[in-house]
Amino acid sequence: MKKCNICHKPDKTHYRVKSIIHKHWIFCCKECWNQISTQKNYSYGGTRKLK
Ligand SMILES: [Zn+2]
Repeated sequence: MKKCNICHKPDKTHYRVKSIIHKHWIFCCKECWNQISTQKNYSYGGTRKLK
């Protein structure tokens, strides 16, 4: 499993996002995604799923 770039919790599914705070693409878990999606300049770049 890969780790969330923000909370470092391992998971199989991560969301590729960026925002005003995270100016470069990061992979985050669903919980962190919920927070980032409320930030300014939020954009979503896909989902990474591990098999
Ligand atoms: Zn997270």
